[in-house]
Amino acid sequence: MNKNFEKFLRPVETLCATQGKRLTPPRRTVLAILHQRGIPLTAYEILALFPEGNAMSVYRALDFLTEVGIVHRIESLNAYALCVENHCLHRDSQYMVCASCGRTTEIHDHELNESLKRILKTQGFALARSTVEAHGTCGKCI
Ligand SMILES: [Zn+2]
Ligand SMILES: [Zn+2]
Repeated sequence: MNKNFEKFLRPVETLCATQGKRLTPPRRTVLAILHQRGIPLTAYEILALFPEGNAMSVYRALDFLTEVGIVHRIESLNAYALCVENHCLHRDSQYMVCASCGRTTEIHDHELNESLKRILKTQGFALARSTVEAHGTCGKCI
């Protein structure tokens, strides 16, 4: 196993354990693929890089990892990305998606999450997870 990935994985394993959850081999492999590629991938792209896996195991692993909060689903791209923060599992994510180069960057702003939760609460809405996607042009492409 890649040294960087081991280092990345350690706090994730600890957090999963505190929630009574386990990183099974397919879950670990999906994480390793996302970590190695470093860009958002669709389930099919992950599957193509996971010869021993099948669609069902990839989808189930992605469901688990999204639920735990170490992987986020970027709805508009139909893709999954590793959270930039591996020590604070969270289900609320914000992304900047550049229309020019396709670069997708997680913003990871807790304040934004809290504001959203507060606003929704005043509407009597209990938030389970949210993805905010900002579409535009990144600093490198302007
Ligand atoms: Zn995140
Ligand atoms: Zn760009």
